[in-house]
Amino acid sequence: MNLVFLGPPGAGKGTQAKKLFQEFGMPQISTGDILRDAVRRGTELGKKAAPLMEAGKLVPDDLVVGIAMDHLQQIDPVRGFILDGFPRTIPQAQALDAALKSSGQKIDAAISLRVPEETLVDRLSGRRICPKDGSVYHVSQNPSKRDGVCDKCGSPLLQREDDKPEKVRERLAVYARQTAPLEDYYQKQGLLRVIDGVGSPEDIYAQIKNVLSRS
Ligand SMILES: [Zn+2]
Repeated sequence: MNLVFLGPPGAGKGTQAKKLFQEFGMPQISTGDILRDAVRRGTELGKKAAPLMEAGKLVPDDLVVGIAMDHLQQIDPVRGFILDGFPRTIPQAQALDAALKSSGQKIDAAISLRVPEETLVDRLSGRRICPKDGSVYHVSQNPSKRDGVCDKCGSPLLQREDDKPEKVRERLAVYARQTAPLEDYYQKQGLLRVIDGVGSPEDIYAQIKNVLSRS
C-alpha cells in the first residue's frame, strides 16, 4: 500500500509510520530525509538542492518532486511506502500522482491525524534536545532523570528555537494554510481517512489499521 500521512508537526506521524514499518515493512519517506540523501549521494538534482538547503531556502516544488520520484523508484512496489511531509502542496500532489501513474502505481489512502492545537503546543514546547548526542526528552512525557540534563552524556538540555510556544503556533498556522487544500484534494478522490490523533500510540495505531483494512 502507498500511503500519504497528513498531520501537523507533533501529531505523531513518525511514531505511527514506525509501527507500520515494523509490521508491514513499508518504509517512511520524509522530504527532509530524501533531500539530504540526494545531496549526500551527489545526484544531479541533489546538487541543485544543496546550495538552497545550505542557505536555508525553500527547495522549489519541481525539484522536490524530482528528488522524491528518484527515491520512490528504488522502493519495492509490493511493500509500498508512507510519505511524510510530502506532498506539501497541490502541485506536488498532482505531480506525484502523474509520476506514480506512469509507473502503474497510485496513492491508496491519505491518513490525516487530527490533534487539537493546544495539545500540539504542549507536546512540542515540552521537547528538550541534547545538543551533543541528539537525545530527545519531554518535560512531562519522557523527562530526563535529572532536570535539564542529558541522561546519556550529562550535557545541559536545550529547547529548540522552533519548539518555543509562539514558534509552534506559527508552524501550526503555516501547516494549516498549506494542508487544508491537500485534504480536500484527497477527499475528492475518496482517499482521505481521518484519524483521531489523541490517545495512546497503540490506540491510534489500531484505528489506522482498521481504516487501512477497509481501504
Ligand atoms: Zn546527551
